[in-house]
Amino acid sequence: MSWRDLRCGEPRPEQVGERLTLAGWVATRRDHGGLVFVDLRDHTGVCQLVINPEHAPEAHTVAHELRNEFVVQAEGELVARAPEAVNPNLPTGAVELQVDRLEILSRSTPLPFQLDEEHVDETLRLRYRWLDLRREQMQRNLRLSHTVVQSIRRTMDERGFIDVWTPSMTRGTPEGARDFLAPVRLQPGKFFALAQSPQLFKQLCMVGGIDRYYQIATCWRDEDLRADRQFEFRQLDLEMAFVEREDVLDVMEACVVGAFEAAGVEPPQRPFPHLTYAEAMLRYGSDKPDLRFGLEIQDATEVTRGSEFGVFKNAPCVRYVVVPRTFSRSEQARLEEVAKEWGAKGLANLTQISKFLSERELEAFGVEEGWTALFVADEEPVVARVLGLLRLHLAHELDLIDTALDVFHWVTDFPLFEHSEEYGGWTFMHHPFTASVAGEEERIEADPEHVLGQHYDLIWNGWELGSGSIRIHDAEMQQAVFRVMGISEDDQRAKFGFLLDALGMGAPPHGGFAMGIDRFVARMAGEPDLRQVIAFPKVASGDDPLTGAPTPVPETVLAELGIRSIVEVEAEAGQAQAPDRR
Ligand code: ASP
Repeated sequence: MSWRDLRCGEPRPEQVGERLTLAGWVATRRDHGGLVFVDLRDHTGVCQLVINPEHAPEAHTVAHELRNEFVVQAEGELVARAPEAVNPNLPTGAVELQVDRLEILSRSTPLPFQLDEEHVDETLRLRYRWLDLRREQMQRNLRLSHTVVQSIRRTMDERGFIDVWTPSMTRGTPEGARDFLAPVRLQPGKFFALAQSPQLFKQLCMVGGIDRYYQIATCWRDEDLRADRQFEFRQLDLEMAFVEREDVLDVMEACVVGAFEAAGVEPPQRPFPHLTYAEAMLRYGSDKPDLRFGLEIQDATEVTRGSEFGVFKNAPCVRYVVVPRTFSRSEQARLEEVAKEWGAKGLANLTQISKFLSERELEAFGVEEGWTALFVADEEPVVARVLGLLRLHLAHELDLIDTALDVFHWVTDFPLFEHSEEYGGWTFMHHPFTASVAGEEERIEADPEHVLGQHYDLIWNGWELGSGSIRIHDAEMQQAVFRVMGISEDDQRAKFGFLLDALGMGAPPHGGFAMGIDRFVARMAGEPDLRQVIAFPKVASGDDPLTGAPTPVPETVLAELGIRSIVEVEAEAGQAQAPDRR
């Protein structure tokens, strides 16, 4: 027996006169003086059921029991609606099912929220996610996610990539986050780290002669959760041997364009424009600039050297943005306050400081009537960061972003290292396996501050979609990078001995990329938050409101793993269910 002949959104006038069985959820029930109307829903849409007490007295009795979200099966003849009852907004709006048999397949308790209710508290939606998933928005988003993943797999397959599964339980993978740990009962006191990415395994695939690897990989990173971050997320992870940077970018662009096409959306123009990291920081104050609007940052360091204006005079860096409007004193004060919160000492408005500036300076700034130049003077990184944030802030405030635009671009040539306050030394900008730009190998140890890496990021409207690089394929060079990062010879062997061994046994030149799938889908769906495109996400505190995880575990379970908790959770732990250890 089949539960249904058609899905709820499928009946059309061509089937009028046919007997049909439909099954789905009760979206609404309306009583109209004897006649009962039910909107029966599934993910394809709704179909109207009519239950007439005279034609179908038994079904009519059942219809009176129906409540929202009951699951029912209805059988009857599909009929044309009276002309005045046709709903032109619904694909099924010209027909209805004249029900003569109605069966309740499953009942629903009263609902914690209605499916068409707006502004439902998110924790409540996640606690009852199965209800939330029935909503059109979630159905659309998860189906879009599927379409994108299928399209990516097609592109990968067409280009000769093979899907290789790599372990989640591994050693710590240095991607810049904390590891989630998994204790091992058979070896108490020891832990696996959950892979922050398959980085080293995919490189080992290259050494292993798999010259085109990909995976829709789950990655785990213990970081603070944000709108664009979850503890676990999926990425398109790929690696290629015997390639240059342009080969990797070409594949990624094909994936992006393919996904747009599969989703029926106008794809972005290829090739995507390039911006070097240095340019991005100089002109936009960000390594992931949103290029849908101008407000480019201008440099005034040279012109203001030795300025009469004290703030500019000795500043190592002076830059400004020109905004197409003027600001009142109070608006200016508010902007300055915001800039100070971002770390600036002040925010100078050209109109207010022009009396201190020379002709030469004023000429160089050349600001049109009715426009405003806003200056920050400080160390270069502070200036870049503050003006970058100000640029974004003003674009939103003044509505300067053309939201109809989709701008994809690459940022390339990042520095290989950055200075880490935390370690008081050099650390990697991308990860420690990124190769330097060709010809800069000698400078890795001699001049780490200025050596550039073959690292590239993909940006979409100011969102970083993913990162990649051409990798080091030489054990000597890999060790040089480890030395710059202050990793002792012993530690290198202990943590990365397997990689160094592999690089010493015939490693081809290789490079790759990883793109956050959920980020990509969220953008495509126009959702500001990853949680709207993930079936069962965690909330910002890191909790899963649905299952109640994470939970404490009983002392006995910890003891078996060689762990003693120093957190006061014993009382709760006593009540927690011991995991099934069969
Ligand atoms: N492993 C990197 C990441 O997960 C991507 C890459 O370099 O391929 O961000």
